[in-house]
Amino acid sequence: MRITIKIGSNVLTRQDGSLDVTRMSALVDQIANLRNQGHEVILVSSGAVASGRSELKHIQHDLDSVDQRQLFSAVGQAKLINRYFELFKEYGIAVGQVLTTKENFSDTEHRRNQENCMKVMLENDVLPIVNENDTVSVTELMFTDNDELSGLIARMTQSQMLIILSNIDGIYTGDPSNPASQLIRTIEPGKRLDEFIQEKKSSAGRGGMQSKSNVAIQTASAGISVIIANGKRDDILIKLMNDRENTPCTEFIC
Ligand code: GLU
Repeated sequence: MRITIKIGSNVLTRQDGSLDVTRMSALVDQIANLRNQGHEVILVSSGAVASGRSELKHIQHDLDSVDQRQLFSAVGQAKLINRYFELFKEYGIAVGQVLTTKENFSDTEHRRNQENCMKVMLENDVLPIVNENDTVSVTELMFTDNDELSGLIARMTQSQMLIILSNIDGIYTGDPSNPASQLIRTIEPGKRLDEFIQEKKSSAGRGGMQSKSNVAIQTASAGISVIIANGKRDDILIKLMNDRENTPCTEFIC
């Protein structure tokens, strides 16, 4: 199966904002395992801005939000991809960095170039690690967040499955911190979710549950099954593939 896996900033960062290398390493182990099981993986990884921010703690003066994003992502993306490169290398897996912008998904030659880049990497067994090119994509050129990007990548690469890893188990019937709320296990096509979705958004990244569910619905309607799960749970990817019934997650049926 070809699987696009999106890892959110909150999965990859600790509470103090530093890069959680232990978690990253555990996810790399799991992806290597999935590849051994015969799956093909495309990774969409956030975490550039968050890891750059923690690297440049010494910056004292005020930066506006665009400057912050450009500066932090420039430093953080280098750090992030370097880690992935080294971690995957231990398994003999070659990875390639794909930094992209919204324009590359519009109906132009840019799209064909983007498509070809994904194709050539997959054909040559290079694992693509995709992120938005945050250093140059600003305001209207930006994706809503990496959830949107992961849905576009899943469709472009004709993945059979999209797994969105966040720091929450999935979509709940109410506020996830309320013990009375229940995790919704499956979502059938056409089901309305407005009453369930919380406005609260993750602290480290741009996305939130609203955007995840919008992307999940759109992607599932394109025939790709989508799973939202908690990337902080041990062995989550292995459990999702091998024992989904007993693993907390929300699955959008296509
Ligand atoms: N591209 C951003 C980063 O790597 C994350 C965007 C998002 O939170 O969805 O930091």
